[in-house]
Amino acid sequence: MMVLTHIAVGMALSLPVAAVAPEFATATAIGGAIGGAVPDVDLLVGDHRRTLHFPVLYWLPAIALTAVALVAIPIVVVAAVAVSAAAVHSVSDVLGAGEELRPWERTNTDAVYDHLRGQWLRARYVVRYDGAPEDFVLTVAFSTPVAVCFQGLPRWIAVSTVVVALPYTLARKRLADQFEKIL
Ligand SMILES: [Zn+2]
Repeated sequence: MMVLTHIAVGMALSLPVAAVAPEFATATAIGGAIGGAVPDVDLLVGDHRRTLHFPVLYWLPAIALTAVALVAIPIVVVAAVAVSAAAVHSVSDVLGAGEELRPWERTNTDAVYDHLRGQWLRARYVVRYDGAPEDFVLTVAFSTPVAVCFQGLPRWIAVSTVVVALPYTLARKRLADQFEKIL
């Protein structure tokens, strides 16, 4: 899935917080966007879908932070949403394709690395490849409620994910050829 979809999903995690604790809404929405994006930084440094992707282990701090936020320190909800967004990102990469330049060719089914079991989780291809039409639909589906319910920066981030995702989706297959020339 596109990093833009992960950002939209991460921001959507802040919607329940906005409903019950509006004072933390903006901070959690931005935290969700950052947490949703961060795992894919390993596309630039380290091994993609391995170095910063933890489909199981992110849930431990995510659950601990949520508990702390609920029973003791409400502001911790910002960190709870950010880490949860990274956890959801890492797990949901299983629903996409394997790690390869042209994921629609399906030559590599390694979707995301499970550090706990020490093995790659197999791609399920529910979203056939990053930038597939169904990936764009997901970006719109998760960005829309965020754009409607929030104002200011979160709204603009949500709108921006769609604005950037559309040309990426339209050009995705041609971009693979361009990347190949650069690499
Ligand atoms: Zn990822």
